[in-house]
Amino acid sequence: MPELPEVEIAARRIGTATSGARVESALAPGMVTMKTIEPPLESLVGATIEGVTRRGKMFVVGFGELALLIHLMSAGRLQVWDKRASLRDKASRLLVRLEDGRELRLREFGTQQRAWAKLLPIAAVDSDEAVATLGPEAWPAPAAGELASLLDQPRHLHPLLRDQRTIAGIGRSWVDEVLWTARLSPFKKGSELEGDEVERLGQAIQERLGAALEHYEEVIGETVPDKLPMPLQVHRRSGEPCPRCSTTIEAIHFKDYVLCYCPQEQTGGRVLKDRRLSRLLK
Ligand SMILES: [Zn+2]
Repeated sequence: MPELPEVEIAARRIGTATSGARVESALAPGMVTMKTIEPPLESLVGATIEGVTRRGKMFVVGFGELALLIHLMSAGRLQVWDKRASLRDKASRLLVRLEDGRELRLREFGTQQRAWAKLLPIAAVDSDEAVATLGPEAWPAPAAGELASLLDQPRHLHPLLRDQRTIAGIGRSWVDEVLWTARLSPFKKGSELEGDEVERLGQAIQERLGAALEHYEEVIGETVPDKLPMPLQVHRRSGEPCPRCSTTIEAIHFKDYVLCYCPQEQTGGRVLKDRRLSRLLK
């Protein structure tokens, strides 16, 4: 799932590749992709792409007076292609065809159609519900004082940090990395954080998201690949030794994601119950 660093690098690369390009046509083969009907997609014909930015995990493709707000959800990709998609390509959700023959294409893997886009007056982007409800951007990380008040909620850190209304840009991959870097339990409550823990967490957010972006800047060329080389150290690495202390990384499997942590450094040596295993044992 693309999170802040992945969307940011894609926004930078797509912005560089398409700025100044004029739209020849726009269509949405995804039946439920467009969440707005007014202005219609045809309004983009003849418009020029002026830049691509990011809000949380969403793209904002600016076309002068109008903007496309795009959310990839868990399985979407936004890329620039040299050739146009076949209309039989079932993964296509939104196609913005450029006059130079290229195409800005939103695709989605799998059978679910969850990725979405809105065509809005550019001045209305910040007041759109999906943007207006976002917390402050996770990168650059908020200062410790602001972070402390954002996280002062009686909720576990793992869901709290992934809640876009609390802080924007962190999802299921980077939350594991950030908590491991800060040596904090995913089940510690935000409201129970000590001052030095908030500071560690803020540093971990800044360091890990910033390092991921630097890594992508180095290894990703003009075209953003389907699968980004995410510099992960604990996420999806259960069973492997912790890179810091060599304790085996443990995992808890939820319905549609997996949480990974180092028991030695994050949960006081305790291995937490894997709900998937306990369900199977019933
Ligand atoms: Zn460890």
